[in-house]
Amino acid sequence: MTVMKLSEIQNLLRCPCCQDSLEQRENGLFCVSSGCEYGQKPFTLISGQPVLVDFRTSVFKRSTYEGGAVPIVRPLGLPGRILDRFRENLYGENRPAEAKAADLIGRLAHKPNAKVLVVGGGTAGSGTRELYAAASLNIVGLDVFPTELTTLVADGHQLPFAAGSFDAVWIQAVLEHVLDPQLVVQEIHRVLADDGLVYADTPFMQQVHGGAFDFHRFSLNGHRWLFRNFSQIDAGTVGGAGTSLLWSLRYFFRSFGWGNKISTLLTMPFFWIRFFDRVTSRTGNSDAANGVYFLGRKSQVAMTPKEIVQYYWDMREAPAKRASSGGSAPVPGLATNPSMTGAE
Ligand SMILES: [Zn+2]
Repeated sequence: MTVMKLSEIQNLLRCPCCQDSLEQRENGLFCVSSGCEYGQKPFTLISGQPVLVDFRTSVFKRSTYEGGAVPIVRPLGLPGRILDRFRENLYGENRPAEAKAADLIGRLAHKPNAKVLVVGGGTAGSGTRELYAAASLNIVGLDVFPTELTTLVADGHQLPFAAGSFDAVWIQAVLEHVLDPQLVVQEIHRVLADDGLVYADTPFMQQVHGGAFDFHRFSLNGHRWLFRNFSQIDAGTVGGAGTSLLWSLRYFFRSFGWGNKISTLLTMPFFWIRFFDRVTSRTGNSDAANGVYFLGRKSQVAMTPKEIVQYYWDMREAPAKRASSGGSAPVPGLATNPSMTGAE
C-alpha cells in the first residue's frame, strides 16, 4: 500500500481559502499569501497531518480541530466492531467497487506513478482492497479526520490541490454527506488531469446514517447528472431492491426506539432477502437500488437536460445492447466520445 506523504505532494498543495501555494516554514505549514489568514498562522496539525480547511464556509468548526478532537468518527469499542462486521455480512461486499477498482488500475497502467486521490479515504471503502494493494498507484487520502490512510485533512468542497493534480479520483459513500455535492464534483473535475478518471458510488435507497452529516441521495439519473461534465465509461447499481429492503427493515426496527445494535440483530435472520438481487429484474433493481456508481472520464462537454431524460431509458436496456448502440447511433451520456447527439 502506497499512501503518499505530505512532503511528496508539497508542490500540488494549494490554500483552501485563497488557492495560493503553501510553504513549509520552521514553525509549520503556511499559505504564501500574506493577506490570507493562513499566511499569518500555520494550519493546525492533527496526528501530524495539516487541517487544510476554510472554516468560513465549512460545516466543521475550527474549535473542534484546535481542541484536538475530530468530527464524526468515534473509536469503536469491541461491541461496535463486532456489530460493524455483522452489518458488512448482512449487506454483502460491494462487488461493483471491487470490479471498478480493477478496471481503474488497468486504465492507469500506462501511467508511471499514477496519482489517485481518495476523497473520504479515512477508512477503506468496501471493495477497495485491490486499489490499496496496487503497487503501480500512489494514493493521496483525505478525509475530515486523520488516519493512517490519509495524507491530510480537508473538506471536499475545497480540495486543497492545484488544477490537474491527479490521474484519478475515488469517492465512495461520501457525496451523501457533503452539503453541496455539485460543488464537490466540480472540485474533482478541477483537480483531475485532462484525461483523468473518476469513480463514485453513492447511496440511493438508504435511510439516514451519519446523523447530522447526511444530506443527499441519488437515483441513477441524478447521479449521472451530478457527473454531467464527465463522459461515462460505466455506471450502474450497488445492491438491488432486496438490499434496500434489509435497510428498511433495520430502520423499521429502529423506529420502535430500539438502538442500532438490537435492530441489526433483529434484521440478521432476514439476510437471505438480499440474494434476490441476483435474480430480480435489472430495471426493477435500478429503480430501487441501494446505491449507484459511476465510472467516467473528465470531459469538456457537458450533458444536456434533454439527454439526461433519454439516459434513464438507455440505462434500462441490457448492457450488451447499450454497448452496441454506442456505435452507429451514439447513446447520450453513454458514449465515451464527449460529442453527444441531442435527443430532441
Ligand atoms: Zn491562503
